[in-house]
Amino acid sequence: MRNRMTLFILFIFLLSFLQGSIGNQIQNESSAPEVTDWPEGSNAYDNLVTMTQFGYRKIDTTANENSRNWIATQLESYGYQVERQSFTTDECDNCQNIVVTINGTLEKDWIVVGAHHDAICYSPPPLIGITYPTCTSSGAYDDATGSGALLELARTFAQWNITPEHTWKLAWWDYEEWQGSGSSEGGGMGSLHFVEQQIPSDVNVTYLNLDMFALNWPVEMPTAMQLTGCDEDYWTLYMFTSPVEDWSYYEDRGLEVTEEMEANAVVLQSQLTELNSNLSHPTDWVRVIDDTKGNSDHYNFIMNGYAATWLRGQHQYAYEEGDTCEQTPKHAQSDSVTTLNTMAGGRTNVESGLQTGMDVIATMALWDRNSTVDNSDEVIIAQGEEGVTSVIAILGMLTITTVFCLVIWRQEKEIF
Ligand SMILES: [Zn+2]
Repeated sequence: MRNRMTLFILFIFLLSFLQGSIGNQIQNESSAPEVTDWPEGSNAYDNLVTMTQFGYRKIDTTANENSRNWIATQLESYGYQVERQSFTTDECDNCQNIVVTINGTLEKDWIVVGAHHDAICYSPPPLIGITYPTCTSSGAYDDATGSGALLELARTFAQWNITPEHTWKLAWWDYEEWQGSGSSEGGGMGSLHFVEQQIPSDVNVTYLNLDMFALNWPVEMPTAMQLTGCDEDYWTLYMFTSPVEDWSYYEDRGLEVTEEMEANAVVLQSQLTELNSNLSHPTDWVRVIDDTKGNSDHYNFIMNGYAATWLRGQHQYAYEEGDTCEQTPKHAQSDSVTTLNTMAGGRTNVESGLQTGMDVIATMALWDRNSTVDNSDEVIIAQGEEGVTSVIAILGMLTITTVFCLVIWRQEKEIF
């Protein structure tokens, strides 16, 4: 009887051991991160429309302040802690960047994604940069497209709720636009403030700039444009990236190009190329090329030694090789949602254009997450080995217990 009791206790012990192992394994599997959300063109489009509804977002205006407050409120609703980086310049008393941080495993290696929330209106060419009181713009293309898309990316990343390898900063710059021919200073002041004041000297940064995209692949060239002499099938999405070949634009402006900068440029260009090929983006219409013109916030990053790229769709008076019809509505009263819809051939096309750019950034974030997951894959593999070890241990235990029970059972038989 006492021996039967021993048998029973042994089996209970074995059962609880098995149960514990299985329970642990299920828990380990469910802790692996999963992407359940992806940025959507329609959400970015809605954000873009909201941005334009604040009015003319020129620096130092109520419209500018209201729009950045809205961005901050949205970010807070996604669960971010919002950093408001205020700054002043000769032309701006109340300028402010909106910045959020997603902490990565690397504190000193940042990926910064930026768009600018301000807008400007000048007189149409050939007069360059003349501002006047009735000249206003809703800045739909420049740069509610970038701001709205970045907000959608922020929403998605919050949903992912994972720790990337790099520390990611998402930034909505104020005062990107030059204030016109009467201005005492240039543009790019928000990103300049960030680069000069907000990046510790021991931190390395890769910068991704979103300024004017949506009118790009897979948006087809409208027939009306083709009739005016355009012989392209689609608008191009450019990624103007830290140069691999031609640094002259930056060298002419005082940059001393180091080997590290050259190496980082090669890495970034090849990453972007690989990423686009992974997304099956046609190389004719989604192109990674040397930046040789500056002209947006990525300029400040490159001038300070960081690798950067600028995602940009159809543009104005900045013809690239092969372009025959790049005519953006930027800096004009006509830069409106209506113009975007007309040029793209409808809202869904604008959404598709936005999607292309967001896919690039989100994939980069996913790859950065995957490098962390790779680590946790190692952990999972280790856990798997642990699991194998557990199975061996269980089998061993089972064998020992069975033998032990058999011995007891035989002894019992002999005794009684
Ligand atoms: Zn812009």
